[in-house]
Parts: sequence; C-alpha cells; structure tokens
Amino acid sequence: MTWALCLNCGETKFGAILKCEHCGVSSSGNRELDMFFSDHNYSAGTLEQLGQVVKSINAVSDMPDERFCAFMLYVSTRHPEMLSYEPEEDMIEKIEEILRKADPPDVIVAKPNDDLEDKIQ
Ligand SMILES: [Zn+2]
Repeated sequence: MTWALCLNCGETKFGAILKCEHCGVSSSGNRELDMFFSDHNYSAGTLEQLGQVVKSINAVSDMPDERFCAFMLYVSTRHPEMLSYEPEEDMIEKIEEILRKADPPDVIVAKPNDDLEDKIQ
C-alpha cells in the first residue's frame, strides 16, 4: 500500500486516492498529482515536511484554490526538480502574499530509499 500526502490538510494518509482520515477529502482532483506526492516518489520524511508546508499555508488562507496554488508555487520555485507550475496570472500576487505570510518551512527532498538522517546532518 501507499503512503501519500493529503494535499488538502497536510496529513500523511494511507492510499493516494483514498479518503483522508483527518479531513475527509479523497483527492486533490488531480489523480496524477495525488500519486506524485506519495512514497512511490518520496521518502516518508519528505512527505511529512511537505505536509508542514501545506499546514503553514492553510493557517493563513481558507480558500482551497489559493491554498493549492500557493503550495504548487512553493514546490515549483523551491524545488524545480520536483515539478513545474505556472499559476494563473491574476492569482500570482495573491498567492505570493500567502507564501510571504505562511513562511513555509524548508523541505529536504529525499527519495523513498534515501536515509533522511544523513541529509539533515
Ligand atoms: Zn486530509
């Protein structure tokens, strides 16, 4: 089975497209993306850290669209090797403001079999 990041609430959940136990949301609406943020691609530690990013954004915005765009912009600018993302032009200012307020933590990106402890030291 798969551990995956819930893009809605930032908790780690069992099964990328199954309902999240914490928030009840099953999918971001983009199945590829749900699968992308799973332990098929990244270590459990990385998924947890990405979850902290989601939570920091959720703390400053209650608009699901903006939260999602802000998270995607964060990942694509801090870790362009993970994914690329172009926000809609009329959203950019808004989501940059959200990221400034949220001040998300840094994420150390590790593949599923990497030893995360080694990277932190
Ligand atoms: Zn959730």
